[in-house]
Amino acid sequence: MKKLEDLILTYKDFPKKGIDFKDVLEILQYPDIFRDLILKMSSNQFLKNAEAIISIDARGFIFGSAIALKSSKPMIVARKPGKLPGQTITRGYDLEYGKNSLSIQSNSLKKFNSFVIVDDLLATGGTVGCVSRLLQDQKKEILGLITVVELKELKGRLKLEIPVDSMILL
Ligand code: AMP
Repeated sequence: MKKLEDLILTYKDFPKKGIDFKDVLEILQYPDIFRDLILKMSSNQFLKNAEAIISIDARGFIFGSAIALKSSKPMIVARKPGKLPGQTITRGYDLEYGKNSLSIQSNSLKKFNSFVIVDDLLATGGTVGCVSRLLQDQKKEILGLITVVELKELKGRLKLEIPVDSMILL
């Protein structure tokens, strides 16, 4: 019988030498484990107090939308630039293995005042830090981060000024 921990597969030197890539997609092939994971991710208090979820491109969308369905919360997305139509706001940041930027649709953001961030994995904290700053610039409240995996040696949690609820510490 597989456990959630067994479904986080490690790919050495992907996408660059020296990176141990933790792949969460195997979870989706085990619906019972995926369901239990979503129930757990949907149960924390800061989600209950948030008006909406913001999930991060691209694996964050998988978990974010399931949590949105379970918790009956609206969800908006933070995507790589050039993917979202209409007016957007964008910020850049450093990744564990490169650089990136994220954009949010201004019209979606206007509708909600408090958010919980959802992503698949917390590494250095650069990605979630970028989304947090985008939201803070718009005077939004950020109640916490919900993530499947946290790479504890990278200490991303210490960079963030929000509570972190991670399902697996690696
Ligand atoms: P970070 O900004 O360093 O916290 O990186 C988190 C984001 O990059 C998440 O959206 C992950 O999908 C991705 N990521 C960073 N490092 C890894 C890794 N070692 N394995 C899998 N995904 C990663």
